[in-house]
Amino acid sequence: MTLPAIPIDLRTVLATRLEEVGITNSFDEAKWLICAAINADASLFISRGTEPLTDRQLQQVDSFLQRRLKHEPLSRIQGEREFWSLPFQLNEDTLDPRADSEVVVETALKYISREIPQMLLDLGTGTGCLLLSLLYERPQCYGIGADLSPKAAQQALQNAQNNKLKKQASFIIGCWGEALKEKSFDLIISNPPYIPLMNKEDLAIGVKLYDPDLALYGGNDGLQCYIDLAKQIPRLLKSEGICVLEIGYDQADAVTNIFTKHGFFLLEKTLDLEGRDRCLVFKIEAIQP
Ligand code: GLN
Repeated sequence: MTLPAIPIDLRTVLATRLEEVGITNSFDEAKWLICAAINADASLFISRGTEPLTDRQLQQVDSFLQRRLKHEPLSRIQGEREFWSLPFQLNEDTLDPRADSEVVVETALKYISREIPQMLLDLGTGTGCLLLSLLYERPQCYGIGADLSPKAAQQALQNAQNNKLKKQASFIIGCWGEALKEKSFDLIISNPPYIPLMNKEDLAIGVKLYDPDLALYGGNDGLQCYIDLAKQIPRLLKSEGICVLEIGYDQADAVTNIFTKHGFFLLEKTLDLEGRDRCLVFKIEAIQP
């Protein structure tokens, strides 16, 4: 049996180049890169292997390779990331959705009725991945996503359209929920920027270079956005409303303290795929008559 020359050889060449810049898992990476460039399903890779690539396809592989060699994540090169089994397009103003954030969606869903129409709000919506995943699961609900970046809000709207959720969602540009009417929401979700500025150098290079600073850093200690949210959310939530937040793995106590000071109590804490604290659920303390 003769082994196909291309793209198996091409894959080896790419893997070697990727290894030279310290990209691990280089043989798989090479496969994903080639498949993305030629728009092929990775599972069909071997069967395509007998056909030589066209010049155009080779150019596309090379252009993707050059970007990956500078540590740009494949999701950004492709312009799309799957989250909650839905496709989300990215741009330079949106965070690349993380698998860990699916835990936040899973947690929030426990608090959203399957029948009653409810109003949801996502503060710092980015690609809209959290809000749109919730709306996909709860077609009777309506949601608003807010982002400081016009480009992010625009991208979230496009993602709503791409996922056929446009009728259920609106997006606004603004500082958290400042512009929104009081006591309007049954559930508020947020994955705010929470990385301490001083930890910048510890981040994976692809994150540090390509995720937008505005979506990553929450001030020197990483907690600044939680302070802002704890001030704003009581005004926006209905009295029985719920607030679901993503947190950094070591921020559960600090964020709980901040929210407790603003009249909330902790209902639940859930863990990410690696068993680390990742999500907090708060409710406003009922005022005693
Ligand atoms: N809500 C978006 C996400 O989870 C954006 C979060 C952010 O920009 N910090 O991906």
